[in-house]
Amino acid sequence: MSYDSDDDRVFVEFPKSLVNALNIGLDSLMDETNWMGYISLTPLKILNSNAADCHEGFPFSKAYCCTEKYSTQYSFGSVFRKGISMLIEFMLHRTVPDNKQEKFVLSKLLHYLFDYLDTDAEIMKNMEMYTETELTAVIANHLFGKLSTSSCFTIDKQCKGKGRGQGGRGSKKTSPLCPCEKNDCVLSGDFGDTSIGNWMVWHGNVNVIINNEVVIGSQDVEEKDCSPGGKSPVEVKLKSNSLSRNPQVIAQNIVFSFLQKHRHPESENFLFPCIGVTGKDMIVYFYDSMHDVLLESTLIPLHGMIPSAVSNINLVAIVVSWLVVNYKYLCDGVMEEMKTMKAEFFSQAEAKLAVYKFDLKAGEVGNSCPVDDSQDKVKNVHHPFLMDLKKRKRMVVLDPSER
Ligand SMILES: [Zn+2]
Repeated sequence: MSYDSDDDRVFVEFPKSLVNALNIGLDSLMDETNWMGYISLTPLKILNSNAADCHEGFPFSKAYCCTEKYSTQYSFGSVFRKGISMLIEFMLHRTVPDNKQEKFVLSKLLHYLFDYLDTDAEIMKNMEMYTETELTAVIANHLFGKLSTSSCFTIDKQCKGKGRGQGGRGSKKTSPLCPCEKNDCVLSGDFGDTSIGNWMVWHGNVNVIINNEVVIGSQDVEEKDCSPGGKSPVEVKLKSNSLSRNPQVIAQNIVFSFLQKHRHPESENFLFPCIGVTGKDMIVYFYDSMHDVLLESTLIPLHGMIPSAVSNINLVAIVVSWLVVNYKYLCDGVMEEMKTMKAEFFSQAEAKLAVYKFDLKAGEVGNSCPVDDSQDKVKNVHHPFLMDLKKRKRMVVLDPSER
């Protein structure tokens, strides 16, 4: 099905009331003196980690990464100048980008606010009722997927069949049901292999990968939830404060960023995002594996703040989600002055930096874990020597001439 943005009426019919709301929302991403709360990006420095342990590669659930904040912060919009200027030009003069792809990206946000917000906001009203597994599926289906140029996403297959909706299939033969359970709501994504990394370094499954381009990070409570006999839904609720400087989400962001740079060397910049979510808030991390810069956003409430005209879903969270899932078109990469605020990952992971740069993969990660390999090596190295010693020892005992 082809999309002809020339016929798209949303650019003309998008109401003034929503333009005004968008206008207020953008202040949070640009102006630290605004009254509603400022969404900033803070560079982080890694003090200590197990990113390049000499004995083993750690799964994300056991990733350790101690960080401290630099004392400078930037507005969230400072790395999304392209996206923000696109919105401002539209709000000012209803100017629509000439580039067809960019026009399509803009239409995704306008359609979401204009056409879908009523139903999607209703579904995302009571996020507290979901387990984290269900929550990421609902948010991927009703927010990130709908704002992205492709609504395809992959949910960790280990979570399949856990919780609401996810065991069943919709009327379409191949589509699983959404955990929201509203009117046979069907997931626009599916379950699959979301493993990334390399067994020699950080590796494991992420919760969701949107359109092969954005990762929704998971935390160890999630993996317990996914494992057989895991904790009950009540016990796995994530606390918002756990998203801040979260070692597992940071590890997932760094691994995915190196992987994306390797897969897309043609990219204009190498600042790649990773999203963390709870029922109340979201957070965005960014890592640039060319300049070794790690950025963390402030917590962004999913509700309240600037309620849109029809619901209490936070419009700032919608705009941030739109910018992040479409970073390929809307992000400018790190600012010049951010380049001096190094994450120090390169020195932290020095011993295995080549693995991060050249040997990460997506899918079937961890299958080749060499548990017995090390024992074989021990045998190969020491056995001939021991055999030789044994032979010599036997000769001492058995030589009759010395008796
Ligand atoms: Zn749904």
